[in-house]
Amino acid sequence: MEFWEGKRVLVTGGAGMIGSHLVEKLLEASAKVDVLDDLSRGNKDNIPWGRAGWEWFGLRLWRYTLGDGRRYDTTLAEAWQRQAFEDKDVVFHLAAKVAGIEYNRHRQYEMMATNMAINQEVMELVARYEPGYYVYVSTACIYPHDAPIPTPESAGDVCNPEPTNYGYGLAKWVGEQQAKMLHRERGIPTAIVRFFNAAGLRDYYDRETSHVIPALIRRFKEGRNPVVVWGTGLQKRTFIDCRDLAKALMLIVEGGGCDGQATNVGHHQEVTIANLAERIKELLDSPAAIEFDASYPEGYPRRVADTSRLRNITGGWIPDTPLAITLMDMIGDYEERYPDGFTD
Ligand code: NAD
Repeated sequence: MEFWEGKRVLVTGGAGMIGSHLVEKLLEASAKVDVLDDLSRGNKDNIPWGRAGWEWFGLRLWRYTLGDGRRYDTTLAEAWQRQAFEDKDVVFHLAAKVAGIEYNRHRQYEMMATNMAINQEVMELVARYEPGYYVYVSTACIYPHDAPIPTPESAGDVCNPEPTNYGYGLAKWVGEQQAKMLHRERGIPTAIVRFFNAAGLRDYYDRETSHVIPALIRRFKEGRNPVVVWGTGLQKRTFIDCRDLAKALMLIVEGGGCDGQATNVGHHQEVTIANLAERIKELLDSPAAIEFDASYPEGYPRRVADTSRLRNITGGWIPDTPLAITLMDMIGDYEERYPDGFTD
């Protein structure tokens, strides 16, 4: 933790689900944190600044849209870019357009173009201001459909993202190559971190962009009967708690993981989507029947990270929050945020 004391850190996407947990942990470790986020999906109430006003010294929020080619005032944009990126010890880049599988598969171009534009601007600013460390957050969606299980980082050497998330995965993969090239040519210590499926507090419950766990919680809470699960339910996933992801990002920097290579971060506990639905139903004590709609795509049949590299960097740590805790916390979060039910 001493590593972070007084460090000047920028978190792009810091008002989002995962970024806000990172911001919290960095502040706990006495870092000075700038958040850059356009609040298009994240929320300022996710970060202590939004919750507690200016009592939280050491935290600044820049509301700024990365990759927006329509800027009317470039001088102002440059001033904001400088304030956010200049003299940073560490830049964590999490800002991205993120959505669920159904949105991603129908809007492949939008997911690709938006995320490439965001990454391009961040890379230019990283090249200009040269932070002490650059951490690019990538995704398991860059892996091919038939990647070996557990999936080693080397399976991402080829560019062949899984078809349902192709546009998103492609943009994230290109972002990795940009980061690697800049690392090689300019020597900026860089980590590429591939997250597997995440879940946790502050997740999104809207119909359009939610991931599988929040979508199921919402359907049970809405009192639907039957609750329809997309796909056969046989596909297996692991889910990592956002708090573990935030911890992993910090440990990777502390442990020397900024060597230009990719590191997987995922949980080891596998669950079928059918079993996941059963567990949520039990936790909510719901009488609803569960039905499967195989006409929806289900992505990879299985997806588990090989976390050997993560263990080496972190001295043996791997994500360890049990899924039961994540699910209970998410249900509590949903009930607190939407006491009268969720409305889009
Ligand atoms: P999120 O949507 O909560 O976070 C992204 C943040 O970026 C949001 O706060 C959003 O407002 C902000 N943002 C979006 N477009 C922006 C723009 N043009 N300029 C500035 N800010 C912008 O999603 P998340 O799940 O917290 O994802 C964080 C990172 O983790 C992303 O890079 C994502 O690709 C990656 N990731 C997430 C998962 C997952 O399961 N959630 C899995 C793998 C990788």
